[in-house]
Amino acid sequence: MKYYIYTYGCQMNEHESEKIAGIFEKLGYEKGDAAEKADVIAFNTCCVRENAERHAYGNIGALKQLKKARPEIVIAVGGCMTQQPGAAEKLRRTFPFVDVVFGTHNLPELGNMIMRRLETNKKVVEIAEGSAVSEGVPAVRNTYPNAWVNVMYGCNNFCTYCIVPYVRGREKSRASKDVIGEVRSLIGEGYKEITLLGQNVNSYGKDLEENTDFADLIDEICRIDGKFRLRFMSNHPKDFNEKMIKVIAKNNKVCNSVHLPLQAGSDRILKLMNRRYTAAEYLEKVRLLRKYVPDCALTSDVMVGFPTETEEDFQDTMRVVREAGYIGAFTFVYSRRTGTVADKMDGQVSDELKKDRIMRLVDLQNSLSREQSAGYEGKAVEVLCEDYDEKKNTYLGRDQYGKMCYFKCEKNLLGKFVTVKIADCSGISLYGNVINAE
Ligand code: SF4
Repeated sequence: MKYYIYTYGCQMNEHESEKIAGIFEKLGYEKGDAAEKADVIAFNTCCVRENAERHAYGNIGALKQLKKARPEIVIAVGGCMTQQPGAAEKLRRTFPFVDVVFGTHNLPELGNMIMRRLETNKKVVEIAEGSAVSEGVPAVRNTYPNAWVNVMYGCNNFCTYCIVPYVRGREKSRASKDVIGEVRSLIGEGYKEITLLGQNVNSYGKDLEENTDFADLIDEICRIDGKFRLRFMSNHPKDFNEKMIKVIAKNNKVCNSVHLPLQAGSDRILKLMNRRYTAAEYLEKVRLLRKYVPDCALTSDVMVGFPTETEEDFQDTMRVVREAGYIGAFTFVYSRRTGTVADKMDGQVSDELKKDRIMRLVDLQNSLSREQSAGYEGKAVEVLCEDYDEKKNTYLGRDQYGKMCYFKCEKNLLGKFVTVKIADCSGISLYGNVINAE
């Protein structure tokens, strides 16, 4: 009996799909390589952008014939999309062949829901409100030597364009002993890079009784023995503070790489977005970060086409992107989301303008990324070997700054730290030769 999982959206969802896989394997299913051959199929959906939602609905619809031919298979739909008002009803009407619908907070009960469907042959729908921490759900990880670890769930920020607080609920931190325990066992199992996940990791601990925060948590994790790297995302510039910066500076295990989403460089737009910082405040944090961690690689999320954005606002964004000097950025156009404040704003920007601005932004960021790559030629960098491309007989991995590096070697290097001398930096990736391996 096989399972197959479709995953949409962010790393948080990727990690939750590892938990869905863990639940399926506990029920006795094995990982399959195609939905058509699976006995249970799960959709872990995202509703942050319209595209992801459309994609998921399209893929669910494509299973109609399969379900007709094999009515015994179980199709389960969960994740952020199902948590939106009216989503369960829409799924029932449009895709009556879906067997199980589970909300973001119901993931730990997914195993029971599948069993109930199999025993009763009745549709099972559970969508809980509020927020929850899922402890003790086994994860089947396919990302060795990297592993994701949740530190918190939900978000309290209500950026006006974002649906996340409505579908993921309020911030809920995991107890520090649970996070540290999970990281310790992953290091014991041989994982070499841990990424701590939360919608706003800098709020970690605010809701806990224990007296701790994200900087303390990082400090504690860095005390775990063994050679490993620590990354974390996502930060919110309003909460990213000097204490955090000092913790990055002092701990060698923390990568000198920070993802600090800007979103926009115009104060007027930032206010409309409810981001609660100005461009100058953002750049001041970047300055502070560079003071303590001069080689820190900075990445960002940058949006164009927020309602009422003018050419002048867009130029402010371009200026901050230039000044911040990102090594890379996720650039995207604003996407209307029903239920958010921005969706009701006047002055929605036309698709033509959005397209023109995103192209200019991407051009700028590409040239900044290329400039930074050029400085690598001839350098020896430490890379964690993360994957192997059989066809090209090439390994790939990243340095601590997140730069992707390709190299050849006869030995099996997966999961090893290697020193690579960079011979070529065409584009944004690096190509080199191994000069030393663990
Ligand atoms: S911080 Fe803002 S953008 Fe990020 S998840 Fe929360 S509301 Fe959404």
